[in-house]
Amino acid sequence: MKLLDRCLDLLYPPRCVFCDTLLQEGELYFCQSCGEKIPMAEGRERIRTGVYFDRCVAPLLYQDMVRESFLDYKFHQKTWRAATYAAFLEPYVREEFPALDVVTWVPLGRRSQKDRGYDQSELVAKGLARRLDLPCERLLEKVRDTQQQSRLERPEQRRANVLGAYGVKKHASVQGRRILVVDDVITTGSTIEECCRMLTLAGAAEIHCAAVVQAVGREGREAKNDETLANEE
Ligand SMILES: [Zn+2]
Repeated sequence: MKLLDRCLDLLYPPRCVFCDTLLQEGELYFCQSCGEKIPMAEGRERIRTGVYFDRCVAPLLYQDMVRESFLDYKFHQKTWRAATYAAFLEPYVREEFPALDVVTWVPLGRRSQKDRGYDQSELVAKGLARRLDLPCERLLEKVRDTQQQSRLERPEQRRANVLGAYGVKKHASVQGRRILVVDDVITTGSTIEECCRMLTLAGAAEIHCAAVVQAVGREGREAKNDETLANEE
């Protein structure tokens, strides 16, 4: 495995997840200069609570370089960044949720996935599951199209928009399991809530959540606008 890693490093030298510069010896995931200014949520700010999940851990803030890195990841095919985001999440997930059975994710609709070529949350969930030595399973599917959440202003509109939009997949094993649901960005939380509601109805024993980035207030509105713009490109 070590040798394979070294070969991969030669072929694809590791780059800073924020500014793309080649990493120097001793740097991991991001360069030193980016490392000094990463917008991180501090302490309990990292934790959001919900109705159908108890806690969602989301360590990065949707600002500046995180925002740019993320837009690139989501809309410009920089899929290699998923592994780094997963590495970022790992210690927080280990700390908050030491006992889990399976990792899953908030799935994209079929059409969006086809257009984009990948599901950005699935890639992070897979990377994270590998690090946690847990299975990563597709437990959820999007069962109807929704309006883009980014176009809806009020929280109640967003909740209504996603109600019934997700279902538990046929033959998915949910009953009695402790599940981690991964999403890329959490804004109002209505999408991940709806996914957790379906998992609750299907008999999950525990449901916890992790998102790479959280966007609140002004950032939340920016996140929504960014998504609208990028989707219209
Ligand atoms: Zn950098």
